[in-house]
Amino acid sequence: MSTPVLHTRLPAVGTTVFSLMSALASEHGAVNLGQGFPDFACEPALLDHVDAAMRAGHNQYPMMTGVPALRGAIAAKIEAHYGARYDAASEITVTAGATEALTTAILCCVHPGDEVIVIEPAYDSYAPAIALAGGVPVPLAMQLGEQGYSVPWDRLAAAVTPRTRLIVINTPHNPTGSVLRAPDMRALADIVRGSDILILSDEVYEHMVYDGARHESVCRYPELAERSFVVSSFGKTYHVTGWKIGYVAAPAGLMAEFRKVHQYNVFSVNTPMQHGLASYMADPAPYLELPAFYQRKRDLFRDGLKGSRFTMLPADGTYFQCARYEAISALPESEFAQWLTREIKVAAIPVSAFYSQARESGIVRFCFAKKDETLRLALDRLSSL
Ligand SMILES: *Cc1c(COP(=O)(O)O)cnc(C)c1O
Repeated sequence: MSTPVLHTRLPAVGTTVFSLMSALASEHGAVNLGQGFPDFACEPALLDHVDAAMRAGHNQYPMMTGVPALRGAIAAKIEAHYGARYDAASEITVTAGATEALTTAILCCVHPGDEVIVIEPAYDSYAPAIALAGGVPVPLAMQLGEQGYSVPWDRLAAAVTPRTRLIVINTPHNPTGSVLRAPDMRALADIVRGSDILILSDEVYEHMVYDGARHESVCRYPELAERSFVVSSFGKTYHVTGWKIGYVAAPAGLMAEFRKVHQYNVFSVNTPMQHGLASYMADPAPYLELPAFYQRKRDLFRDGLKGSRFTMLPADGTYFQCARYEAISALPESEFAQWLTREIKVAAIPVSAFYSQARESGIVRFCFAKKDETLRLALDRLSSL
C-alpha cells in the first residue's frame, strides 16, 4: 500500500490559537475571555422571525446573490447609516459569514504574484486566503504609542509597489480595539488615488464604536467606496456568531467578479435565516442600541481592573480589551496567556498570535462580550494580580 503524498498548499497553517486556548480553558475550568463570541442569547424576536420563515416554506435554494428582501434591507441600512447608495440587485451579496466574503473577495481579484498589504496584528483568515490565491501578503505593523495602536500611513505608502493589488483594512479593529478616524481615511485615499489598488474593508464590528464616535466606513468616502469591498457580519451585530451569515457591498464591476467565485464556492446561503433577518432588520433599534450595550460592558471590565497591575490600552471599538502585563510577568505572550488560564483561571489570547512574524509586545486580548456575571467572575480572579 502506498499512501499518496499531499503537498500542503498552506504550510503555515496549524490549529488556531483560539481553539487551543478554548480547550485549555475548559480543561482548567477557566472563564473563557479568549475566543470572541457572546455567552448570552440573541433577542428572541430574531428567532421568531426565522421560525416564521421556515414555517412559511422558505426552505429551498434562494437566489445565488441572496434573498432580495434581505439585500434590499442591507442597502437601505447602508444608506441610512453612511449615506452611500448601493444597488441591491447588482452591488450587495449575502455570504456564508464575513469569512466567506473576505476569502471570496481575495480570490476574485488577487492573481499569482500580486501583493496584498495586510496591517498587523491582523485577523487570522486574511493570510491563508491570500496564499490560496497565489498572492504575497505584505505585512505592515501598526505602531504602538501612548494613544494605543495606530496605522503608520507613511510606512504603508512606502510598502506600495507596482504589484500591489489590494490593501486589507479592518475597523473597528480586532484584536487591538482601535478604530480608524477621518484623517486615517483621508490618508488611505491619498495613497490609492490614481492607482488600480483595491480595498477590502472588514467592518464586522461597525456597530461597536464607543464614546460617541462614529464608524468611519469606507462607504462614507466615495473615492474609497468606488474601489472597495465592504464586509459585515450578522453574527457580530445580532449576537449569533454560529449562524455564519454576512454580506459584502461593492460597486457593480467588482461585485460581478465577486459573484463568479461565490457562485461556485457556496452558491447560496441559508434561506430561512435570510428571510428572518430581512424582517428583523426593519427595526433599527437592535444595532442602534449596540454601542451603549457594549460600552457599558467595556467600562465594567476596565473599571474592574483598575486596582490590578494590568495597564489598559484604549478600547475605542469592538468587544475586545487589550492589556499590558509587564508589571505582572516577564513571560512571552503565549506562555503568559497559558499561565493565566491555568493558574488564575481566566483565558485570554496573546496578541502575538495575530502577527505573521514573531513579535512580543507584552499584551493580551480579553473579550468582554460576556454576561455581567461572567465578567465579574473573571474580574474577581484577575484583580488579585
Ligand atoms: C469574527 C470576525 C470575522 C468573521 O465573521 P463571521 O461572520 O463569523 O465569518 C471577520 N473579521 C473579523 C475581524 C472578525 O472578528
